[in-house]
Amino acid sequence: MPVTALKGVGPKVAERLARLDIHTVEELLFHLPLRYEDRTHVTPIGALQAGSEAVIVGKVELTEIRFGRRRMLLSRLSDGTGFITLRFFHFNARQQQALERGVELRCFGEVRRGKVGLEMTHPEYRQVDIDERVIDEASLTPIYPTTEGLHQLSLRNLTDQALQRLQSNQLHLQELIPAAMRDDSELPSLRDSLLFLHRPPPEVSLESLTAPDHPMRQRLAFEELLAHTLSLRQLRNRVRRHQAPALRQQGRLSSRFLAALEFDLTAAQQRVIAEIETDLSQASPMQRLVQGDVGAGKTVVAAVAVLNAVEAGYQAAVMAPTELLAEQHYRNFRQWLTPLGVEVAWLSGKLKAAERRTALQALISGSARVVIGTHALFQDEVVFQKLALVIVDEQHRFGVHQRLSLHEKGRQDGLYPHQLIMTATPIPRTLSMAVYADLDCSVIDELPPGRQPVDTVVVPGTRRDEVVARVHRACRENKQVYWVCTLIEESELLQCQAAEDTAAVLTEALVDVRVGLVHGRMKSEAKDVVMQAFKSGEIDLLVATTVIEVGVDVPNASLMIIENAERLGLAQLHQLRGRVGRGNQASACVLMYHGRLTGPARERLAVMRETTDGFKIARKDLELRGPGEVLGTRQTGMLQLRVADLQRDKSLIPEVSQLAERMLREHPDCIAPLINRWLGSANRYGNV
Ligand code: ADP
Ligand code: MG
Repeated sequence: MPVTALKGVGPKVAERLARLDIHTVEELLFHLPLRYEDRTHVTPIGALQAGSEAVIVGKVELTEIRFGRRRMLLSRLSDGTGFITLRFFHFNARQQQALERGVELRCFGEVRRGKVGLEMTHPEYRQVDIDERVIDEASLTPIYPTTEGLHQLSLRNLTDQALQRLQSNQLHLQELIPAAMRDDSELPSLRDSLLFLHRPPPEVSLESLTAPDHPMRQRLAFEELLAHTLSLRQLRNRVRRHQAPALRQQGRLSSRFLAALEFDLTAAQQRVIAEIETDLSQASPMQRLVQGDVGAGKTVVAAVAVLNAVEAGYQAAVMAPTELLAEQHYRNFRQWLTPLGVEVAWLSGKLKAAERRTALQALISGSARVVIGTHALFQDEVVFQKLALVIVDEQHRFGVHQRLSLHEKGRQDGLYPHQLIMTATPIPRTLSMAVYADLDCSVIDELPPGRQPVDTVVVPGTRRDEVVARVHRACRENKQVYWVCTLIEESELLQCQAAEDTAAVLTEALVDVRVGLVHGRMKSEAKDVVMQAFKSGEIDLLVATTVIEVGVDVPNASLMIIENAERLGLAQLHQLRGRVGRGNQASACVLMYHGRLTGPARERLAVMRETTDGFKIARKDLELRGPGEVLGTRQTGMLQLRVADLQRDKSLIPEVSQLAERMLREHPDCIAPLINRWLGSANRYGNV
């Protein structure tokens, strides 16, 4: 049934609905409220709280245009218990008139604290009669996602009509979760759930509706998660049907490499390597994610995979997210592989034209078997002689679409490369079952032996002198120290300046200490020189910005000072702190904060003090910020959810996963309509 079957939907409205990917009445029914507003009662102005949303009713005492930096219309509304200012930046003469002195208004909006008492900016308002003052709205007001030119009221009106048809059975919705499986999971019906979520009955409160275990909401959340999971699983299966070079060799190169290392692999590293090698030996492309905490030793695992490809006569590419990290990998790989007679090339966006040409030539001719670089690796001019493996390191922000385009990009003569993605942002297993449903996952759940947990303290900036003294002591004991200057406002420039200033001050204060400086605005060679000097022990104290956040590996560094730690998120703090405690000496981290701590900042710092376990920290981070923030919105392909919330609904995930597998096996016919219902035709990953 097309939307045009509804009253009030002409070509213009239909076009606007189409922008929301709504073409049919059924699609309209799956256009669910984003949130609800509680307009069920009027709040006396005197009882308003800043930060809340409220309905108020009152009389206009004064309306005037104020000419300041911006022209605005201010109205003062009072109801005998107090007054509030209504503020409008956009207004016309008609509005000005509607707000004239003496008029009674009913308003809804967010209450904020202004210079002179409470305010509402651009509230919704309408004129009311004295008698109407007491009439409250009976139930929660649904607020729909919308688009320009389509009002909430129109959407409410249209969904009213659609719901009527659903209720009177003029419209039949197909249950796409097969009946047997529905019974297993005791779900309410689709019809009831939709009716409920679009128009919550009067007795339902905002709290109960948004509670994790609300059955009607869960019913739809379940189906939505199922649709997303199926879409990712399907994608994985499609990729699996592609051909890849089967890398079956004896592991001569990798055993020589491992024998030359000064340590033995951990059991976890060995297990993950075995998983990877099994994948590589298949004639279909590996799509594997390796999660491992900071310092778990992912790089050697990557090197073994690379050597598998090389020994089989193919090439491998390793991509890192920053120049600094790519350079470090380049250095490591060259050092490891050159003795084995394997040539490693280097590609970054900053290479000179001639160097770049040489590198490209080495790849196309095949003289270079391995290339390390930044995303510059995947520009169109980069052509491989025979690529079999692509490794993406430390990229939790590498989403479905990027994985797919990399997959396509590496295609050569009908063969696709194997893909390995390594991340130091481990997430709980259930969550990864959902967001990484297109990948196979391995976890390095063990740190190399001898690692000592980093002793972490939180100190106020007022005790800076003590911190500097501690740094001094450490340097005199031949320890190496990082001093990290973090974001002051959202400006890289300011951050770099702060680092320069700090380095200057510390150089002056600590005359016998060799101080180095590295930040994002330095030339790449200059950065490299400093990092090398630090690594080789020619620098005692490295003042740095967050460029060192990810991957940097200097095992002898055992003290880290982080300034403005209160401004950083947990994931970032954990990454930074992971730069120390990599060797086997006792390490420490000082988290300095400035000013008074807010509640969430205090909580983050407390978590950092209590644990160094990346999984625990990730769980806490998810709790505090939610998966959208932690994993990067849109990156995982699962985050544009309408009803489901990965954090709130995580308990549904195992069952969703199981059901997805069963549907793929037993009810393949239901899959496409289900994906279509929830993801829309435009959004399907399979079309990329
Ligand atoms: P990450 O997983 O954070 O990328 P790295 O690969 O950089 O960790 O490894 C961290 C450090 O631990 C490196 O100095 C590396 O050489 C060392 N390392 C890796 N595996 C082991 C091991 N099994 N035993 C001892 N040290 C190891
Ligand atoms: Mg690493």
